[in-house]
Amino acid sequence: MPLDLPRELRDRAVLPTDPLYPTLRSTYTTFSSPAVVLLPRTDVETARSVMFARDARVPLSIRSGGHGLSGSSSNDGGIVIDLSAMNAVEVLDRESRLVRVQAGARWAEVAETLGPYGLAISSGDHGNVGVGGLATAGGAGWLARSYGLTIDRIRAATVVLADGRIVRTDADHEPDLLWAVRGAGDRVGVVTEFEIEAVELDVIGIAQIAIEVDRQGETLRRWSEHLATAPRELTTNGVLLTRGTDDVLQLTAVVAHPDPDRIRGLIEPIAGLGVRALAMHAQLGHYPALVSRNHLHPNVGQQPSTTTNALFPTLTAESARAIMRVAVQPASILVQLRSLGGAVNDLPASATAFAHRSHEVLAVASVFPPEGIRDLDAAVRPLWPHATGAYRNFESHPTTATVERAFPGAVGDRVASIARTYDPDGVFTSTDRS
Ligand SMILES: Cc1cc2nc3c(=O)[nH]c(=O)nc-3n(C[C@H](O)[C@H](O)[C@H](O)COP(=O)(O)OP(=O)(O)OC[C@H]3O[C@@H](n4cnc5c(N)ncnc54)[C@H](O)[C@@H]3O)c2cc1C
Repeated sequence: MPLDLPRELRDRAVLPTDPLYPTLRSTYTTFSSPAVVLLPRTDVETARSVMFARDARVPLSIRSGGHGLSGSSSNDGGIVIDLSAMNAVEVLDRESRLVRVQAGARWAEVAETLGPYGLAISSGDHGNVGVGGLATAGGAGWLARSYGLTIDRIRAATVVLADGRIVRTDADHEPDLLWAVRGAGDRVGVVTEFEIEAVELDVIGIAQIAIEVDRQGETLRRWSEHLATAPRELTTNGVLLTRGTDDVLQLTAVVAHPDPDRIRGLIEPIAGLGVRALAMHAQLGHYPALVSRNHLHPNVGQQPSTTTNALFPTLTAESARAIMRVAVQPASILVQLRSLGGAVNDLPASATAFAHRSHEVLAVASVFPPEGIRDLDAAVRPLWPHATGAYRNFESHPTTATVERAFPGAVGDRVASIARTYDPDGVFTSTDRS
């Protein structure tokens, strides 16, 4: 049945007949066919869009950058509220480093705008990821150990609620709403903009390091133990390559410090953690090079994949061996390892809706077609006896079990309670979202 668009939204609507529709219908992982994509430019237009969607009783998706791994930022036959026209990035006050970032901006645009000010916001590892999806869930990237998650420095947000109200929340106004925005934002409304305290960041060290790893997991255990006590300027993210003649951990190490000697001192020991060092290249650079404008592209379902993840404290012999068992299976599996800890663990578990503040390692596992969720579930089984949590943004098939892993115990109870207060009819949670 065609949707009866209100007059004030007609010029914001992209229908299947519109030339723009092919680049707006889908997400990074999923090809979709929504009935309409709405492109609000203001909070008021976003509120009108939410009210229209609420009454239309068809699937509703909220999209910022379209990089969500579950494809939940589009749907078939329903309404997509796409915030890409709301993409301003503005330094509000250089001295206090307060930055206003609209949800539809990409992290490449944020880094590029802040770079000339000598400022940065700890975000993810990819410039095309949208502000809204990352900053409402966590945000673990190249600066995680140095400056924490993206959500850790959110000081205020503007949220369009399910009843169309536009609310600004900060520590003194609707603090429960701000608490939920920082980790479970999609459960309470459409966050249209964030005020985030950036950090001073100038030159940094960036290194590529390849080390051979053993299948018993000893190298991974040593890497994790090393990172757990390393100065927090150091963050490493890597991928396990186990299909060649050697098993290799290919790491990118970032040192948030300008001094070449300090950078060298933090990077060189990493090469000694493996069976042998295979390659190492280090250079000075700037944060925008890591979340680059070159990453920007439309999301048209180009990367179908199935992803899950697990969080660990410092790896033990057993958990490291379990990760290696997963990585060497015959499935087309890709295992990424990311450092957490450092500044991520400065906040108590109850401070935000992201509860995981005692973990050191995030392991992310993906399979690609023709393999799918059954293959992934079977492949990652060895992880679960050792995992102590999960990050919802690297989960493509949210289930009760994965949601409980991401929102455990009292934090999960508080998320559910605040979501009931701000969205009593479940307008934003009627479909599972990553
Ligand atoms: C290539 C790639 C690299 C990645 N790297 C990292 C990384 O380094 N670190 C990391 O932490 N994550 C990373 N991610 C995961 C990323 O955090 C999530 O996929 C995130 O949801 C993407 O944000 P988006 O705005 O592009 O998502 P979208 O697809 O637009 O949205 C995903 C979901 O988030 C919710 N949402 C989006 N915008 C809003 C909003 N404004 N208000 C309320 N809810 C909203 C909705 O439920 C939506 O369905 C990566 C993902 C990909 C595909």
